Amino acid sequence: MTQSFSYAGSSAQIVFGDGARSQLADWVRKVGCSRALVLSTPQQKADAEALAQDIGDLAAGVFSGATMHTPVDVTEAAMKLVAEAEADCVVSFGGGSTTGLGKAIAYRTDLPQIVMPTTYAGSEVTPILGQTEAGSKTTVRDAKILPEVVIYDPALTLGLPVAMSVTSGLNAMAHAVEGLYAKDRNPISTLMALEGLRAFSRSLRKIVASPQDAEARGDALYGAWLCGTVLGTVGMALHHKLCHTLGGSFDTPHAETHAIMLPHTAAFNAAAAAPELAAAAEIFGGSIGSGLWDFATAIGAPLSLKELGLSEADLDRAASIAVENSYWNPRPVDRSSIRALLQDAFEGRRPQ
Ligand code: NAD
Repeated sequence: MTQSFSYAGSSAQIVFGDGARSQLADWVRKVGCSRALVLSTPQQKADAEALAQDIGDLAAGVFSGATMHTPVDVTEAAMKLVAEAEADCVVSFGGGSTTGLGKAIAYRTDLPQIVMPTTYAGSEVTPILGQTEAGSKTTVRDAKILPEVVIYDPALTLGLPVAMSVTSGLNAMAHAVEGLYAKDRNPISTLMALEGLRAFSRSLRKIVASPQDAEARGDALYGAWLCGTVLGTVGMALHHKLCHTLGGSFDTPHAETHAIMLPHTAAFNAAAAAPELAAAAEIFGGSIGSGLWDFATAIGAPLSLKELGLSEADLDRAASIAVENSYWNPRPVDRSSIRALLQDAFEGRRPQ
């Protein structure tokens, strides 16, 4: 039977390679701008300032207050600086948190964004923004949110600690795994998902053994681009829903939560999406759940929700929240099967 699908390529300009960071000034000019506001977290302030210095007069200032979950009050503080500095574009230097702030500014102003990723989260290639206000998180999808230019330079990730490299990589891999069985998948998203998984299966082991291996870092960034693009293109299912629930209601750390949950959500959907997941299972060996769990173990990833400080009572509540609203998943979801899945993840059991 002929497959049916609809496909739209991303309009983002991707720049990739060793030393690519030196192209920033050119890209600020190419997007028609001359006053870039450089964004970072407080932890990456010194690097953001050095970057601003590198581009000289093209830098209009640095805002280093980016933080997890894109709180609206932080965005408002950054917006003040956008106006004061008369910024005409933003340069987001960092991981998903900094990219989130750049997206929040672009959503309000439509200013062009140039992103220089320093983690593997993949947010830089999605038109999705999650932001929080008064403790509640909302997600919006809008063309204005998709960054115009992404500059991937492996050197920018050499300092990413090994533990964060591992969890960030597994976070990206989760986009690919869910992309494989997405209802709106297309042949290109499937190719990208499998290639992204292969890139991480090669590179993360090497990074753990040798964190300064620039080639492995480049391979992981390549995986991040591919897996992030899948996230930006097709719909996600149970895995992202559960991680959103755990992060949103119990404040569990983003990348670690994805890393722990991935083998369990993949195992949960394994039989219902067997043909879609077969090639991914082959990459990791065994069944998709056990293969991913063995891989996560080999690279020293956190394995149990217990380690994140959750209690069994939290699991009861999480299972209820996760089935409050219905959403598509290859295997139908009910509270008791989700509660069992959460228990396995809590204990850190190896899925079958
Ligand atoms: P992060 O951006 O929160 O970074 C975590 C910490 O690591 C920060 O302190 C940061 O300064 C530091 N850091 C980042 N890169 C570093 C480096 N190379 N060296 C040393 N320290 C470094 O973490 P993240 O996992 O990249 O992003 C998580 C956030 O991104 C979450 O809020 C999540 O919801 C969001 N996200 C959004 C999307 C999307 O499409 N909207 C996709 C993925 C993640």
